Amino acid sequence: MKRLLLDLEKYNSCKDDKYSCSYPYHPFNSGIGALLEYATFIYICRQCEEAPCVSSCPKEALEKVPAANLKRYNNRCISCKSCMLACPFGTIVPEVVPYLSSRCDLCIGRLNDNEAPACAANCSNGVLSYCEVEESKEKNIYILNDHLAVHCVAWQKPPVAKKI
Ligand code: SF4
Ligand code: SF4
Repeated sequence: MKRLLLDLEKYNSCKDDKYSCSYPYHPFNSGIGALLEYATFIYICRQCEEAPCVSSCPKEALEKVPAANLKRYNNRCISCKSCMLACPFGTIVPEVVPYLSSRCDLCIGRLNDNEAPACAANCSNGVLSYCEVEESKEKNIYILNDHLAVHCVAWQKPPVAKKI
């Protein structure tokens, strides 16, 4: 089964690249930010017991949740980046807490037409690809759901795939 594969390792080494998302109305508010947020909170966050990111937020926009470690309430977040500064592990990069939050529908319309998601179709550096993916802890590949997989060096190897 083909999935959109987000490679966080490659993303972190080529941040200057411009990613093309199919969402046409706000070109600077691409759905890729939502994918980054999703993957970062699940796989990179160290799951601090007393999370400084949460307590530093002036808008109560971050909450610890069991399913994804952290949840950001986009309608409260003012993108002040206090959480980014408070995190002792550098987990939260600016792209994870944008002011204009986006949603990614994984280009369902394109998938129905047997086309790859727009970001994968236009990505030349392998950060986003659309391919057959097998979960493999050895290869640092994790399946998030029926449509999305992530390649990253996870802080803690998940015992089973987290289906969200
Ligand atoms: S960037 Fe958003 S989530 Fe982070 S501290 Fe500021 S308001 Fe809270
Ligand atoms: S401070 Fe950093 S590592 Fe700790 S819970 Fe927050 S984002 Fe995760």
